[in-house]
Amino acid sequence: MQITRKKTRRIMVGSVPIGDGAPVAVQSMTTTDTRDIEGTLAQISALAEVGCEIIRLAVVDQEAAEAVGKIHKRSPIPVIADIHFDYHLALTVIEGGVDGVRINPGNIGSQTKIRAIVERMKDRGLPIRIGVNAGSLERDLLDLYGHPTPEAMVESAMRHVALLEKENFQDIKISLKASNVLDTIDAYRLASEKCDYPLHIGVSEAGPLLSGTVKSSVGLGYLLACGIGDTIRVSLAADPVEEVKVAWGILKSLGLRKRGVNVIACPTCGRLEIDVVGLASRVEERLAHVQETMDISILGCVVNGIGEGKEADLGIAGGQGVGIFFENGEVVKKIPSQDLEELLIAQVEKKVDMMKKAGISG
Ligand code: SF4
Repeated sequence: MQITRKKTRRIMVGSVPIGDGAPVAVQSMTTTDTRDIEGTLAQISALAEVGCEIIRLAVVDQEAAEAVGKIHKRSPIPVIADIHFDYHLALTVIEGGVDGVRINPGNIGSQTKIRAIVERMKDRGLPIRIGVNAGSLERDLLDLYGHPTPEAMVESAMRHVALLEKENFQDIKISLKASNVLDTIDAYRLASEKCDYPLHIGVSEAGPLLSGTVKSSVGLGYLLACGIGDTIRVSLAADPVEEVKVAWGILKSLGLRKRGVNVIACPTCGRLEIDVVGLASRVEERLAHVQETMDISILGCVVNGIGEGKEADLGIAGGQGVGIFFENGEVVKKIPSQDLEELLIAQVEKKVDMMKKAGISG
């Protein structure tokens, strides 16, 4: 099956294109206090290392707004400032340097204030994300719809959009987040029918690592398979590094992006000769820094030869005391089972070096 992506407008967040067929960008949000510049930069680096392409920072006060510019100067990836209500904070971050602002114009207070922000953003070519959340809809929409329905969320987004369009501003992307997966899907489907602004998709407050991963994978996976979504954020009550890994997992499983080592491991059974579960998670962790695309396979036994892993670039299979290392479906070496992990890591690193020298990213 081929995914046909919905045609949307193109905006730029720093150097990262969003919409109009650009690769679905992975983003996350720091959990540090933005006023802690060094701590925030350290977290941004850790996130960039695992594939975060855009980072959002919470701007809670003037000191945080002033820190954004300093962080932006040294950040390896584009920075978005997340601002609620206070337009002075928006003016400060725009002045200090930033790649985009998340702010809802309807919450700023007046069209004059909206104009002040929009004019400065236009001058610098910066985009705005309108972020509608089911938990904070306008009172009159709640009264009209009874509760935060997908229709109410989309109507709220369109009101914010209208305020920006009134100023002739269209560098917009939209998010419509609910913690309920079905409402999230419905809201994005409706928005996608109503406008062609790029969509930042996510399930809000998805939960801890396991349940949040499941909810995000179901909700975002469905939307992406329908061609909806231009940038993705997985929200977890966990280290944001995990959010980025899950986001990449979703995109890779749908064939929308490629990055890094894809570890294929057998599910194990009574024929198991090596600790596949431990090995697979250690190898995945040890190779998390690799950006080149590669499939590696870890099999628990050699009973089926290397049949179950023959599509992989590199792989290992356990045996009674002695296991095998294979490359492109051919057995290359037989070695003691306890040495399989180190051999596999060394061979992956060697292949990565060769790919780098040849200018191949996978
Ligand atoms: Fe079982 Fe061997 Fe297949 Fe793993 S590779 S599932 S251990 S038969």
